Amino acid sequence: MKHLKLVALLLLLPMLLCAQKRGKHAASSHIADMKGAKKLWIWMNPSQATTVQQYDSLFSIWAKYGVTGVFFESDVEKAFRSAKRHGLEAHRWMWTMNRGDILARHPEMAAVSRTGKSTAENPPYVNYYRWMCPSYPGVADTLAREVEALCKKDYIDGVHLDYVRFCDVVLPVTLWKGYGIEQKEEHGEYDFCYCERCRKAYADSHNGVDPLTMQFPDQSPSWRAFRYQQVVDIVAKVCQVAHSYRKPVSAAVFPTPEVARRLVRQDWVRFPIDAVCPMVYHSFYDEQPSWIRTAVREGVDFMGNKKPIYAGLFLSGFKSIDELRLGVRMAIEGGAKGVSLFAQPTLDELKAVSAELK
Ligand SMILES: [Zn+2]
Repeated sequence: MKHLKLVALLLLLPMLLCAQKRGKHAASSHIADMKGAKKLWIWMNPSQATTVQQYDSLFSIWAKYGVTGVFFESDVEKAFRSAKRHGLEAHRWMWTMNRGDILARHPEMAAVSRTGKSTAENPPYVNYYRWMCPSYPGVADTLAREVEALCKKDYIDGVHLDYVRFCDVVLPVTLWKGYGIEQKEEHGEYDFCYCERCRKAYADSHNGVDPLTMQFPDQSPSWRAFRYQQVVDIVAKVCQVAHSYRKPVSAAVFPTPEVARRLVRQDWVRFPIDAVCPMVYHSFYDEQPSWIRTAVREGVDFMGNKKPIYAGLFLSGFKSIDELRLGVRMAIEGGAKGVSLFAQPTLDELKAVSAELK
């Protein structure tokens, strides 16, 4: 009898595995988990110069303190494999629309400002701000191919999108001073994409109106909505590819749905991703840690609590370990399913965050 049961189980096993594979694409990943224990993610830039032994010792400590997974900013295979050996998920953190590397080969894909400047030649704010136009047909295809290549790698558990938006038409307020700009209104040189293709596409669906002729383009709800949709379409394409490989997609997004739309034309509530990491960097907005609760709650409410929010915390923005603990508490009280840390925590920071998540 025992033997029969074993045979039946062995026969059933492949079917069970297949059923699981065919099920929800992110079933095997913690990133889409709405019910389990609170999660802890870390954004990290790995290096080829770091040895496997060094990675092993780092990730064994992270595993001990309950880190769920890592968003790796570059494809350093030994770092991914080491993380996985220690039970962490290893996701590839990729820059999406801000891509100087692609524009160096394809300057025709660049976004164009209201003042007619291409980011391929005239990047706004800083030299690395080289944004692609989301409506250029090659842009979505290029990103989709890139994501497909990542998803084919067995050591990559998922894709984490960053810079998945337009250039900041308005910077977070505490950054104004550093750039010597007061952005009390939207300035044309930071307002994108006014390339001929985008203007024509908008005009074709809006009774021939060219956005460049609007007296107050920042007050046009349809011109804003048109641009939100362009980025949503890019994300949908990328998700379609990743999900076909049963790999989940998450994203680092602006802190709340309202702030994201207003500052960077990012309508992340409508991204078909599996988890969201809003960068609730209170210090960027001249806010106190208590704002983290307000911000996370807005995201949870806008999404109807349908997918997990992992509140992105900017470690340098906290004045003490106690304040960091408060930040984590605020995130959880706001409805976050965990936090993601920027950047690598010290051991004391890690212990404090880990204790708050228990
Ligand atoms: Zn364009």
